[in-house]
Amino acid sequence: YRSLAENLEQTIQNAKARNAPVSQGDIAAVARMYAEANDVSKQLNARRHLQSQIGDKIRKAASDEERTKAREEATSLKQEVHALQTKLQTLERTYQQFALHIPNDTHPQTPIGPEPAASIIATHGPAFIPADPKRDHVAIAKELDLLDLESGATVTGSSWYFLKNEAALLEMALTNYSMSIAMKHGFTPVTTPDVIRSDIAVRCGFQPRDAATTGEEVPVSHMYHITPNHESAPQLILSGTAEIPLAGMFANKVYNEAALPLKYVGVGHAFRQEAGARSADTRGLYRVHQFTKVELFGVSTETQSEEMMETMKDIQIEILSGLNLSFRVLDMPSEELGASAYRKYDMEAWMPGRGTWGEVSSLSNCTDFQSRRLHIRYRPQEKKGAVEGQTRLPFAHTLNGTAAAVPRLIVALLENGAMLGEDGVVEGLRLPVALKPFWFAPESNRIL
Ligand code: AMP
Repeated sequence: YRSLAENLEQTIQNAKARNAPVSQGDIAAVARMYAEANDVSKQLNARRHLQSQIGDKIRKAASDEERTKAREEATSLKQEVHALQTKLQTLERTYQQFALHIPNDTHPQTPIGPEPAASIIATHGPAFIPADPKRDHVAIAKELDLLDLESGATVTGSSWYFLKNEAALLEMALTNYSMSIAMKHGFTPVTTPDVIRSDIAVRCGFQPRDAATTGEEVPVSHMYHITPNHESAPQLILSGTAEIPLAGMFANKVYNEAALPLKYVGVGHAFRQEAGARSADTRGLYRVHQFTKVELFGVSTETQSEEMMETMKDIQIEILSGLNLSFRVLDMPSEELGASAYRKYDMEAWMPGRGTWGEVSSLSNCTDFQSRRLHIRYRPQEKKGAVEGQTRLPFAHTLNGTAAAVPRLIVALLENGAMLGEDGVVEGLRLPVALKPFWFAPESNRIL
């Protein structure tokens, strides 16, 4: 808060560049309330100091009159302390609430503006297949009996689905394939809870209910809320991404610098209401309400995070390259960063049936945005001997990136790998050889 108050104009400009749902007035109010809280805190400390001496004053009073006066002073100090404490709590609660909407700083190289301002930093993979409506993944999946959207609609609703036959196995193969690559690079495998406290999501930078926006970001309001079954039950939601439970795994912890970076790869289910999603995107598997996602997560020191982001990008490139997809890497612009990211790279694979690039992965360096709110700190090597709590320990940096968003990968694999006869009839599907070690479907000549 001190740095926010000291760099008020810069904070306001940054929020504007990111189109953050927080007004200039709100940011100024945070700075004002923070200054006021500091002032109240000083008054409170002064009163407490007087309070600590009042017992002596009463005991050492030279006359009854002096004693009565000192007692009156004690009563009035007690009332003042109580009033100041209440004022401080209210101020802190209010500015912390406003501050939740203030976004992270932005990397100096991040392009400024909305989605089209993204800069393409690399293109990988084979030359891409021309756009062809016969390569539509829904039609291919139907032909090969891989997807049951009708039953998904009966059981839950539209954009819910059953993967069938080899597609069900493909989900597991993609999960294990991407985890195996992450593990090869030293990431520890974990499975994560899909039900989480909404408070943890808010601390990760997902906006609370009343500040909903639409698009790729997942505000808490776009997550499914679980109705509490009694008054004191915590507010629970279905996780929109394993990033949240993974970040929460490190909450309230202090690490030795030598132990960093920590590298985890989590597999969980992502649940998203996707209210306001465009209809073309909601066809088939492209934008669904539940999907399996393998997520890379890193906790580093502040000097390690930029390099770690590049390492995680290379792992994502390795995963998509092994799948033989044509894809490109984008440095995402300021308005696409959400609240928490300092910098964000998205990867888009070519999907010939859709006739366009489709986002298949995302990677964010959240610097200390999440660790400040989740209290993730580290003990620098040179301060090893310092007594904990006497010095302020630095906050760690957190990073998250998609290793595999399964349905989007299935879309890309079907649309690129379908074997079409001359008349456009689907004859089979060619899958990348990298999946072979993770593939346990019986031999068949329709899926190679
Ligand atoms: P995000 O956590 O929003 O950055 O999403 C991570 C990745 O999940 C994206 O890059 C997409 O590949 C994928 N994804 C996001 N939303 C959906 C959805 N509703 N259905 C299927 N895949 C999605």
